[in-house]
Amino acid sequence: MFKSIALAVLLIAPFAARAEHKPPPPPHSLRLYVFNCGSLDISDPERFRFHKEELATTNMSVACFLIVHPKGTLMWDVGAVPDSALKPGEKSATEGYATITETLKSQLEAIGYEPSDIKYVAFSHYHYDHVANANMFAGSTWLARKVERDGMFADKLPNDKMNPANYSALKNSKTILIPTDDYDVFGDGSVVMKLAPGHTPAHQVLFLKLKKTGPIVLSGDLYHYPEERKLKRVPTFEFDQAQTAATREKIEAFLKQSGAQLWIQHDYIANSKLKKAPQYYE
Ligand SMILES: [Zn+2]
Repeated sequence: MFKSIALAVLLIAPFAARAEHKPPPPPHSLRLYVFNCGSLDISDPERFRFHKEELATTNMSVACFLIVHPKGTLMWDVGAVPDSALKPGEKSATEGYATITETLKSQLEAIGYEPSDIKYVAFSHYHYDHVANANMFAGSTWLARKVERDGMFADKLPNDKMNPANYSALKNSKTILIPTDDYDVFGDGSVVMKLAPGHTPAHQVLFLKLKKTGPIVLSGDLYHYPEERKLKRVPTFEFDQAQTAATREKIEAFLKQSGAQLWIQHDYIANSKLKKAPQYYE
């Protein structure tokens, strides 16, 4: 008797464990979740061509985004500090400029998703503060620009603040190398990655067409401080400053034409006012 119960438990347990997790059913229309991926404490805004007094705050927000489309999910930018740095029982973890107070995984789980549920992952660009949890999404399909991917795995890294250990698992991920300036992720024009080079060789922004909220562009690092946009200042450490200026003009024209709002991802004050997951924009 005991033996057969034990055997039954052994047989059923793996299936039961697998059946426990089901991602939420796909929504009828596009959703955007904003996660708290920490902040950057910038002590040297001169790198951005600003004196402290010219800025409302020198702090920057770090946001991660989950786009949920009826046909699948896309993670856009995955933080500045990997979840593993936040030890159990600790309230925060700091690495360099960046501090987190909660993990990305816990925020995903709070809305019903495991990292393995996520269909696509993409980054505005390869800097450390946008790719810290990349390894978590190695099972997703990576939507990448070739020159950025090549830079990430080059013998000589293109930027001195990159941390390859945080994205090494992507090397073997299923990858789509985007051949066009615009890339329509789900084929209906509602989620479009747009090439916006200058900050890095193939930096990109993300256009979203939300039903209630209206169109939005997630900036990547087209700008960092909102004052950059107002005063047309280009950071000192761009891959190509002239290209950044030209790209900004192109994207500003697109914003006018599309009527989209620009969400500057590092804008600390604007980000603090956004709804955070489990709430969402639709
Ligand atoms: Zn950044």
